[in-house]
Amino acid sequence: MTERASEADDSATWQRARELFGAARRITALTGAGVSTASGIPDFRGPDGVWTRNPQAARLSDIDSYLADEDVRAQAWRARAENPAWHAEPNAAHRAFVDLDASGRLGALLTQNIDELHQRAGLARDRVLELHGTMRRTVCVHCGATGAMTDALQRVAEGERDPDCRSCGGILKSATVFFGQALDADVLREARRASLDCDLFVAAGTSLSVYPAAAFAELAAKAGAKLIICNAEPTPYDEIADAVLRGPLTEVLPALAAAPLIDSAEPLRTWGDPTTWEQL
Ligand code: NAD
Repeated sequence: MTERASEADDSATWQRARELFGAARRITALTGAGVSTASGIPDFRGPDGVWTRNPQAARLSDIDSYLADEDVRAQAWRARAENPAWHAEPNAAHRAFVDLDASGRLGALLTQNIDELHQRAGLARDRVLELHGTMRRTVCVHCGATGAMTDALQRVAEGERDPDCRSCGGILKSATVFFGQALDADVLREARRASLDCDLFVAAGTSLSVYPAAAFAELAAKAGAKLIICNAEPTPYDEIADAVLRGPLTEVLPALAAAPLIDSAEPLRTWGDPTTWEQL
């Protein structure tokens, strides 16, 4: 535990969180924009968040506004080009999950982030479930063709206001899930499985206010997993958490990942036949 992390959270909370971490054998994590703020990418709803400062910016991620209005699309392309994520590097919070994975205890990492910094930190692509997709690819809303975002942004830099799909002429968007769009069914199923099949669920850097992502914390807790929430601000699930830590994630997560292993007499609890999980 570092001095700054301990200042934000009392020592009893820290001890409890480290014990939970040390005793856990299969950890599922859910991360949000707060994991990447130390890399220079603002979150949406924190004090310096993109939407806190400019509530209109949310329209750029609304599928109906995007499809209906060419001006919204032109603004969205400019915002994509200027996204600080293009120049961002992973930070200690991202690396903590790589260390956890190397220790063999990371079941899966569910992320709401679209910046791919978890993968860039060294987590294998198949360990990361991108609930909201990736900003580094484009997809055509008509034919589904995908491409590199850098190619589309090159066309914007050359003067195109709203680059269309090269295959069918349809509207192109980033390969992220907009408000009003459904999450990928396979990713959702895997995320649900990983939430039920863990003995500790850690939610980090997320306001837990976007659904269905936020509901995985509750699902895991209902199924019997311990729940740790690491977030600077309160979340709707703090009350059901076994520990809530408010310190900076670049300190909190490495300290948790380094918590000494506790030999537990209890075997890992899982919940049997996945077909029965629908009832939870
Ligand atoms: P959010 O903005 O709703 O919440 C982020 C939370 O992180 C806030 O409550 C804030 O207090 C906390 N936080 C920020 N920095 C922190 C730090 N250093 N230490 C501790 N806590 C910190 O983010 P969300 O819950 O992920 O939902 C936002 C949506 O926006 C997601 O759907 C995501 O796809 C998208 N988004 C992604 C990125 C990214 O990829 N980096 C950035 C912005 C938004």
